[in-house]
Amino acid sequence: MEQGSVHGKVARKASNDGSNQTPALIDYNLFDSDPVLVDAVLRENAGGFRSELAATGNELGRADNFDAARLANQYGPVLRTHDARGVRIDEVEFHPAWHALLSAIARRRLHNRPWSQPGTGAHVARAAAYFMQTQIESGTLCPTTMTYGAIAAMRRDANLARDWLPTLLSDQHDARNLPLAAKAGGMIGMGMTEKQGGSDVRANTTQATRVADGSYRLLGHKWFFSAPQCDAHLVLAQSESGLSCFFVPRYTPEDKKNGVLIQRLKDKLGNRSNASAEVEFDHAYATLLGEPGRGIPTILEMGTFTRLDCVTGTAGLMRQALAHALNHARHRSVFGKPLVEQPLMQSVLADLCLESAAATVLALRLARAFDAPEGDEHEAAIRRIMTPVAKFWVCKRGPELAAEAMEVLGGNGYVEELPLARIYREMPVNSIWEGSGNVMCLDLLRGLSRYPASVAAIEETFVRMKGRDALFDQAYPPLLLRLAGGGWPEAEARHLAWRLVSLFCAALLLDSGLPPLATAFCQTRLSPRRGSVFGSFEGPIAAKEIIAASWREK
Ligand SMILES: Cc1cc2nc3c(=O)[nH]c(=O)nc-3n(C[C@H](O)[C@H](O)[C@H](O)COP(=O)(O)OP(=O)(O)OC[C@H]3O[C@@H](n4cnc5c(N)ncnc54)[C@H](O)[C@@H]3O)c2cc1C
Repeated sequence: MEQGSVHGKVARKASNDGSNQTPALIDYNLFDSDPVLVDAVLRENAGGFRSELAATGNELGRADNFDAARLANQYGPVLRTHDARGVRIDEVEFHPAWHALLSAIARRRLHNRPWSQPGTGAHVARAAAYFMQTQIESGTLCPTTMTYGAIAAMRRDANLARDWLPTLLSDQHDARNLPLAAKAGGMIGMGMTEKQGGSDVRANTTQATRVADGSYRLLGHKWFFSAPQCDAHLVLAQSESGLSCFFVPRYTPEDKKNGVLIQRLKDKLGNRSNASAEVEFDHAYATLLGEPGRGIPTILEMGTFTRLDCVTGTAGLMRQALAHALNHARHRSVFGKPLVEQPLMQSVLADLCLESAAATVLALRLARAFDAPEGDEHEAAIRRIMTPVAKFWVCKRGPELAAEAMEVLGGNGYVEELPLARIYREMPVNSIWEGSGNVMCLDLLRGLSRYPASVAAIEETFVRMKGRDALFDQAYPPLLLRLAGGGWPEAEARHLAWRLVSLFCAALLLDSGLPPLATAFCQTRLSPRRGSVFGSFEGPIAAKEIIAASWREK
């Protein structure tokens, strides 16, 4: 009996002292600890924002933010279709943590910064802040991104610009369900996908009928309609001139609730803090945005920006997964020494560092193309060709990296108390929405055949790096010939996108101040030395240097 209680005491002590468990990754600076991000911000013309981004990184790294993210996902949105009297209200209730996160996002102007405070490096600086914000929580970034993209399209309409932009360009999160005039801030969503077709939006059947005052009434449905609590959505519908883009506010000009009926919320794999709805349009009030019959190009103006955010958001999630893997490997000892000193784990970690670095530099380079003034043909070509390619590739790499990073943490990685499981569930959606993988690769082919001069911009990027790495010098000329050759089979579009993005990332890393990463990226991505899973190399790579170059101590 006595002995048992002694054993009981010993066992309790052993399980309570936390020995060989990893310290929590909280209260650190997301910017200063990330040398790849800092380097990319400086290179892509946003050096003026460095101290502001460091302050943002410091603020975001606080424990309370990670806790808010957990709460917003654990207690997800709840739909309330009717009030107690049976009147339709179509409201979504969120946990206070959701609103706290969105208030901080609005304060950082992630939904409008380049439009409210334009200038050199504005899109890059926003992308860097977004990259850090997504490391905290991703669901809140869905309406944030849609608003950022929608403003680009709405600016072209004088009436919308006059009536809506002052509220959308504020730094306030105002979640109240009120007409715009009563609000201090606003958010915009998007409705394209219907049951019978998402990628092929020409299959949309929602009907838009013009009425006497020139506005329209929508009748139909949307199968995916995220953030239905937004103050308005850009919606595709068939008008008498064909598929057109419409602006559908939550309230009519008479301040009456518009006929947008939320049918139910989707039960999703990830992105659980965010509400994604199915809606019916019951003669919903709408106004035309852009030219009638030109709905796809009009809404694609928004889509180009949201695709950039899919790249940046995935790159940010990759960085957070990597940060946890590095943190764990440095503190967890196995078979007598820390994981980070075990050669095979070094191969895995170094490979994760390379993948994350490539995604980071690509996202910020792409953001720079969005900073270029209209008329800059070189940057327009980079934007046109590299946006779909980057969206395809980075979003494909994300889930694989998240799974491997999770495994670095062993069983702890699989448990919900750490964010790895949530990051893993979050990853695939960026590849699916805003144009799925194949659609992005077909978009590359379309871009190349419509704008053959774009190849010159890619060539210039490669030629500038000539002479820095023998593998790179060998690999890029055949790709340029292939890009310029035309006649690309659809079936090979993924292969072409893969070669292009690998060389493009290699060029960006060769241009960076991170030589161990650049050399190893070329060694492992431009030659057959790397196997098809993380950490599988034939021959040595500078693993320790790569790991050291990827994390700067708090
Ligand atoms: C969580 C979530 C939220 C969403 N929120 C919104 C929203 O707010 N608004 C909105 O409008 N939509 C939203 N969507 C919908 C999303 O944009 C679509 O699911 C996506 O565009 C794919 O369309 P689909 O589901 O109809 O699939 P499909 O179009 O049927 O495509 C299925 C597959 O076929 C592939 N494919 C398509 N065409 C070709 C081709 N020619 N050759 C080879 N392969 C092809 C696609 O890449 C895809 O992998 C959301 C989706 C999710 C998961």
